[in-house]
Amino acid sequence: MRFSQLLIPTLKETPAEAEVISHKLMLRAGFIRKLASGIYSYLPLGLKSIRKVEQIVREEMNNSGAQELLLPMVQPADLWQESGRWQKYGTELLRFTDRHDRENCLGPTHEEVITDLVRKNVHSYRSLPINLYQIQTKFRDEIRPRFGLMRGREFIMKDGYSFDATDSDAGKTYEKMNDAYHRIFKRCGLSFRAVEADSGTIGGSFSHEFMVLADTGEDTVVICTNCSYAANTEKAKAMESTMPENPELLPMTKIETPGKRKVKAVCNFLDIAPQNLVKTLIYVADGEPVAVLLRGDHEVQEVKLQNILGVDEVRLADDKETFDFAGTPTGYLGPVGLKLKIIADLEVARMVNFTVGANEKNFHMQNVNFGRDFEVDQTADLRMITADDSCPSCGGKLELPRGIEVGHIFKLGTTYSEALKATFLDDQGQEIPFVMGCYGIGVSRTVAAAIEQNHDKDGIIFPLPIAPFQVTLLNLSIKDEEITKAAESLYDEFLKLGIEVLFDDRDERPGIKFKDADLIGIPYRVTVGKSLTTEGKIEIRERKTGETFSVPLAETTSRLKQMIDSAMQSCQV
Ligand code: ATP
Ligand code: MG
Repeated sequence: MRFSQLLIPTLKETPAEAEVISHKLMLRAGFIRKLASGIYSYLPLGLKSIRKVEQIVREEMNNSGAQELLLPMVQPADLWQESGRWQKYGTELLRFTDRHDRENCLGPTHEEVITDLVRKNVHSYRSLPINLYQIQTKFRDEIRPRFGLMRGREFIMKDGYSFDATDSDAGKTYEKMNDAYHRIFKRCGLSFRAVEADSGTIGGSFSHEFMVLADTGEDTVVICTNCSYAANTEKAKAMESTMPENPELLPMTKIETPGKRKVKAVCNFLDIAPQNLVKTLIYVADGEPVAVLLRGDHEVQEVKLQNILGVDEVRLADDKETFDFAGTPTGYLGPVGLKLKIIADLEVARMVNFTVGANEKNFHMQNVNFGRDFEVDQTADLRMITADDSCPSCGGKLELPRGIEVGHIFKLGTTYSEALKATFLDDQGQEIPFVMGCYGIGVSRTVAAAIEQNHDKDGIIFPLPIAPFQVTLLNLSIKDEEITKAAESLYDEFLKLGIEVLFDDRDERPGIKFKDADLIGIPYRVTVGKSLTTEGKIEIRERKTGETFSVPLAETTSRLKQMIDSAMQSCQV
């Protein structure tokens, strides 16, 4: 396609609204434009990359035996009432009333709709297994839409749902999907890890997230350097340290700590390590206060906390709520004499003679001991794992790189089929619920994640399989007849060979063409300029390495084709 005829509104300056690199570059390279918060138009280049991801997803899903369909985006409330999620889903679900006063929502996900479809149309074990997927725009009224396509309100997702007759068949389908997902992200040319994810109340390790590794990722991935253990931080179990043997418990004392509220300030003032301090945080769990005890240098893993408490939502109380619940300002809270439900991290139960807030402004308590000075309602693993922890599987050293969740596979069991009474007749003539699985891929997020992982100061460095074009061909002097003729003939040759090419035929200065080419990040750049008239040579440059090759005009197309084919080969599975 010709640059001059495409809508590619590149920008010199980075728009102020963009915080992360993929968002900045997608705006600057003319891939997307914002319509409203978390809602974007995909311009021709952006859409091309999205379509490439979709195509890879489609091929691998079809190869694994799944069938594509397309479900409605508008979903009636009654279905969600049947599953119990109309109440549970909260404000991420965009609800509205139609002209007949019927309540509806915009689909954030499709478990209800697909289960309804299958219960009405599949009745026998002979029709199983069935695995159905779609690629569709989803709507979630995210509390903080941000980072462009990384967390939109409207975004493109591949969502798939499987229906099996037995638990063990469902396990096999899960493995097939796991395999398909590995193939998909490899074929996209991405560096990624599949990690064990929290499967909430269902239990087992039947949930995996696919994480694109990138320093700017929102999530942390826990990877063992010694064995194959890989998990997200919600799932990664923190190992307990050993308790000192027969410790001498010192008498508890109260000490003045004027204005010292933060862990660091208290530790500096008292000349103690954060490992000898226990902090007390007040959380609101489904509206109820709970005090959480944690070693000074540790952080709460909120999903672990939520699961342990068995609630739908946890959040840190603000200063006012903390004071209302505990009667003490934030910073001076402690478990001694505290009249709230208390839950302590396992590590706290291993500590002796530690420091806590005294539940009195400007005071702390020292040499406090678990069991002797206070009791708790529960102890549990509720903290974020750190690089100082060891692998829960082999004891080896852990690494904690950042990642972006692009896919999630989940063994659902019979949760939805039971709630919606979706049953079939098994080979004994018994009516039993389908065993389900669900499998998501953030298609638009995958393009953003690819950019987070692959860019430099000049712009995007697309992995070849998902680049909007494979090659950009630059005519550096459209006024020069010889150059223009050669460029036009190369363009025709490329098209004939099926090379996807963006032909920069604009009447612009070379500097602008080079800058735009780097910004857009197409993997190969072919330049027709002065060296053609002087030496009969064309320049091929690889965006990723910056390596350039000077090639005779007649050999350009074959040489380029070779480079593309071998690069595509390396992403094959
Ligand atoms: P997150 O924890 O990032 O909110 P999620 O657990 O809500 O994700 P799923 O419901 O599993 O996500 O959705 C499947 C996939 O859809 C995710 O793996 C992610 O890649 C993508 N996705 C989810 N929410 C968004 C969003 N707001 N914008 C873009 N992609 C999204
Ligand atoms: Mg979400």
